[in-house]
Amino acid sequence: MDETDVPDSHPRHESILTRHRIEHGVDLGITSRQGLIAHGRGEAYDYLLDERTTESADRAERAAAAHLLLAAHPVLSVNGNAAALVPGELVELADATDAELEVNLFNRTTERMERIAAHLREHGAGEVKGLDADGRIPGLDHERAKVDADGIGDADVVLVPLEDGDRAEALAEMGKTELVIDLNPLSRSARTAAVPIVDNIIRAVPGITDHARALADASRDDLETIVDEFDRETALDAAEDAIRSGDL
Ligand code: ATP
Ligand code: MG
Repeated sequence: MDETDVPDSHPRHESILTRHRIEHGVDLGITSRQGLIAHGRGEAYDYLLDERTTESADRAERAAAAHLLLAAHPVLSVNGNAAALVPGELVELADATDAELEVNLFNRTTERMERIAAHLREHGAGEVKGLDADGRIPGLDHERAKVDADGIGDADVVLVPLEDGDRAEALAEMGKTELVIDLNPLSRSARTAAVPIVDNIIRAVPGITDHARALADASRDDLETIVDEFDRETALDAAEDAIRSGDL
């Protein structure tokens, strides 16, 4: 089926188009087959959120923007799902916050790393990190631990969409400020984040970019206030409450 075959009036229009992008990512060799399953899990939570950005998620996106703008060395981690769904949007966020892009895969193969880097460059990225893999995250097995020493290895703030729980925990233990996009507020990734963003990556990345642009001229004091006022537990509780008891 072609994207144009889905009528605009179809109630799951957006969701079906997004699914096509993930399938296409697999065809291009940038998304793993496990990525398809992870996507299905995300879809279920998004369905229960009525496929909308909640007020609480919007506040998290604003706090994430403030963290990225305050950071000395912000890095956006990109996996196969993120690359398939929001390649151009990640490049825009990197530009808006002066952040670097680093490919970081759970199922790492050089071929897939290179394809994702090329895909990001086709969407306007300059340098894409991740291929040097000369740094390590302590506490993880060899393949999972690889990062660029001058990328995620040196970052103070890292945005990790759809990260695996082990790696999210290990990065947090390294003292990095983690901003996690994950539709499951109960996942370990969301629970270890300084800023859990419970929203679809499709909406969350442009949402953070919009906030970053609006805050471009804000003072460090104002940005720090936004960071301090954000409460991760409140955000997780609000997301869980919206999923369990929101009306559809
Ligand atoms: P852990 O507790 O280790 O974090 P997990 O349940 O998160 O486990 P996975 O299924 O590997 O394990 O992770 C996929 C996660 O990504 C799920 O939580 C899912 O909700 C989330 N996810 C999938 N697609 C999207 C998306 N488009 N936007 C945001 N989150 C998504
Ligand atoms: Mg997870």
